[in-house]
Amino acid sequence: MVSDVIHANELYKVDPVFGQISFNNHEQIVFCNDKDTGLKAIIGIHNTVLGPALGGTRMWNYNNEWEALNDVLRLSRGMTYKSAVTGLNLGGGKAVIIGDAKTQKTPELMKKFGEFVNGLSGKYITAEDVGMETADMDLVREVTPYVTGISESKGGAGNPSPITAFGVYMGMKAAAKFKFGSDNLDGKSVLVQGIGHVGEALVDHLTKEGAKVIISDLNQERLEAVSKTYGASIYNGNDLYSESVDIYAPCALGATVNNDTVNKIQAKIIAGAANNQLANEQEHGLILQERGIVYAPDFLINAGGIINVYAELEGYGKQEIMRKTENIYNTTLDILTNAEVNGITTHEAALQVAKARIENRKKENNK
Ligand code: NAD
Repeated sequence: MVSDVIHANELYKVDPVFGQISFNNHEQIVFCNDKDTGLKAIIGIHNTVLGPALGGTRMWNYNNEWEALNDVLRLSRGMTYKSAVTGLNLGGGKAVIIGDAKTQKTPELMKKFGEFVNGLSGKYITAEDVGMETADMDLVREVTPYVTGISESKGGAGNPSPITAFGVYMGMKAAAKFKFGSDNLDGKSVLVQGIGHVGEALVDHLTKEGAKVIISDLNQERLEAVSKTYGASIYNGNDLYSESVDIYAPCALGATVNNDTVNKIQAKIIAGAANNQLANEQEHGLILQERGIVYAPDFLINAGGIINVYAELEGYGKQEIMRKTENIYNTTLDILTNAEVNGITTHEAALQVAKARIENRKKENNK
């Protein structure tokens, strides 16, 4: 979700674009403006060594343009490493549209955005993110082929959330194997924070395996419905991070592992779907390592969604999507083991794999 770690005042102090705290040698940043539709968007292309930069479009009512720029820079960088560590031939990109998706999103605005995407001739391929629906991508598809996440009836791969949830489940089982010596989650207590599209599907997998699932969400109605459907218990304390559980699964917002929470967390494993779970990747990753808490890197285990949309480009089917997503288990186990052997954080270990893949491809391309 939108960054809540970097405040606008800090952002003003640096150069407008290349000096931004989240600028990370991005290849291209495109600012899009259209007076008639009110479109104001930023497309961030972080890295295209492995392939076209693929990443969703987020529509959010940012407090200011700095926040929007910061978000697109962070998110596009994250996509580079997510695809690289997953073994996909994709680069990293992301787009943000500044505005309220509920009141300011119109078909004209979406099509205009599509025209900007089209102007990049396939260097950036878009998809859905927060504030976007499949129907919006169908509108973008009317003006450009460089879009994924479109309706199944139009050749799309359908809703990515169940696939994302399956990948998170695989990553969680690998973390359990690493920490407890067995990947069997029967009887393990798992606290799922956020039972939206991904969280609910994760609860389904977990309860089927016999895990003791505790759920938390801001939406009371949803909590009651999910609790009834799956027999999960509703968290009713006031300090979720201090709850003594085996596994904490952040499936709502990013940056929940932060200065306020990192020393309180009692779970033995952190494995969830939310992007950018560590407010500070180095600092908080290190504290988790020192405290013996196994952190399954978010960008590794939540890659099911990108695997799903990649199918639209490569033309593979459901079976291959599931095989690739199931493989998140093996990759996670390898990375957790590497981190231990090399005495580095699990986040760093996953980054190293992603970066090595990009460097190798660069060398091959330069031969
Ligand atoms: P969603 O919007 O469907 O669900 C999010 C849920 O979290 C909602 O039910 C919301 O009420 C709840 N929530 C918000 N703030 C909360 C809080 N403070 N405490 C508890 N609950 C809170 O989103 P989703 O599609 O299920 O995605 C969940 C997370 O996974 C997001 O961070 C998203 O970026 C990430 N993610 C999703 C996908 C995907 O395929 N959908 C892929 C990769 C990553």
